Amino acid sequence: MASKTFRVAKIIFKRSQPYFCPVINGRSYSTAITSGDNEPSFLDSVQIYFNKAAKISGVSEKTLSHIKAPDCSLQVTFPIEVDDDKVEILTGYRVHHSRHLLPVKGGIRFSPGVDEQEVAALAALMTYKCAIVDVPFGGAKGGISIDPKKFTLAQLERITRRYTVELCQKAFIGPGVDVPAPDMGTGAREMAWIMDTFRQFHPNDVNSIGCVTGKPISLGGVRGRNEATGLGVYYGVREFLSYPVVQKATGLSEKIEGKRIVIQGFGKVGYWAAKFFEKNGAKIIGIGEKDCGAYNPNGINIEDLFTYLVKAGTFQGAPNVDIIDDTLKILELDCDILIPAALERQINLGNATKINAKIIGEAANGPITPAANDILIEKGIIILPDLLLNAGGVTVSYFEWLKNLSHMRFGRMTKKWDELGKSKLVELVENNAGRQLTESERKSIVQGAEERDLVYSGLEDTMVAACQETKSTAASKNIDFRTAAFVNAIQKIANVYEGSGIMFMT
Ligand code: NAD
Repeated sequence: MASKTFRVAKIIFKRSQPYFCPVINGRSYSTAITSGDNEPSFLDSVQIYFNKAAKISGVSEKTLSHIKAPDCSLQVTFPIEVDDDKVEILTGYRVHHSRHLLPVKGGIRFSPGVDEQEVAALAALMTYKCAIVDVPFGGAKGGISIDPKKFTLAQLERITRRYTVELCQKAFIGPGVDVPAPDMGTGAREMAWIMDTFRQFHPNDVNSIGCVTGKPISLGGVRGRNEATGLGVYYGVREFLSYPVVQKATGLSEKIEGKRIVIQGFGKVGYWAAKFFEKNGAKIIGIGEKDCGAYNPNGINIEDLFTYLVKAGTFQGAPNVDIIDDTLKILELDCDILIPAALERQINLGNATKINAKIIGEAANGPITPAANDILIEKGIIILPDLLLNAGGVTVSYFEWLKNLSHMRFGRMTKKWDELGKSKLVELVENNAGRQLTESERKSIVQGAEERDLVYSGLEDTMVAACQETKSTAASKNIDFRTAAFVNAIQKIANVYEGSGIMFMT
């Protein structure tokens, strides 16, 4: 790789935002700046949702304005040699939305749609998301504006390492500062490259592997991180289905079994959500990908279709499914639960009235525009919001970071000890009852928890608690679940800002 010297970095610190008040469908969306398609940009959408909750949060204007504005923003450009005589200049971003708690946390996205406002919107959502699930981190996000499919493996590695060098040089990464994770277009492989690059800058830092989460297990990752977001989506939907208020509004029973589910996006989040719903008896009747959708009213075999997609790169030609050529139509299928798990702003003024789901579980970040959100609520559709429903990823990232700082696998010190104690108890019960347990009965009672068991259990507990808090705020204030989730997040963040004196309150 030829090294080139051209490089630009821009760091912007906290600033106030310009606000306008557009009217969409007769409704005023205060603080929104409309984008080209006459709906607010992703960033403005997040702020619209924030403002709605802020008004009823009971938090002072001063603190609210401080919470809302991003703390600092980094933009870098760097060259990458794509073939012998051609160089492309790439643009990368990292935004720290709120550093009220450190480190800040948020994924790194490789996608052509990445720009400053998208990264800022995702960073803001991370702040609120961490607060909702009581993960003691501030919010951040990063990304590079590229289509990763257009680069070779070697080029992707160079791009990832080069971006990490920029983050290292500007102090936008580190186990106590900023801990990235995978997002769209990135995974364990990229996290391993990031960690290795960071370690070259910090060879004596004993905690350096905690600079990033979502790593391969062999490099300090935690069991259960790959599936965490999808599993969290499953736990969240299952929890909301158990609430009488949701059953009454949708006419659905609390059982997952037999529920008809449609998923948009068959990547890390969509695939794992599909797997857990299928495993628990739901029927995945439709899945949408970039170029087309797959449909089978009797239920799609998830592993078969995924294996086909990995090999063929498309659903076209896959057995046992009908192909829907217009992939956006997948969102309009008649179903019980619709799970957008791809991009933002997929449900908007163009298709909101055509949505035929009873519940929408936002696995993706920002899949519904504010105007569409209002239409869907008026149609009686229950929306389980992104900042709550997809928080499983950051929850298990937190567990991974804790594992890295403790330098020990979860369960290593306790598994055998627990087994010993439980064996003694079983023996006592067997002696008193006069009956020996079968080998499988004994194993299921005595077996000590492995790392994955502990991670799943911590994730389930976190998701259930966060859903219950959201439901309870929604009920007490008579508001929708998204607004309730924002209210809870705002109040928790305000407590840190005001309690710690960051606001220099008088
Ligand atoms: P991914 O890159 O693994 O998967 C995204 C999938 O969506 C890919 O298969 C892609 O081909 C598909 N896709 C792209 N455009 C599409 C379109 N127009 N229609 C249908 N499918 C399309 O990304 P991911 O990690 O699964 O992230 C998906 C969403 O979930 C993003 O919004 C991300 O921010 C959010 N999220 C991810 C995590 C995580 O842990 N990875 C955590 C929280 C939220």
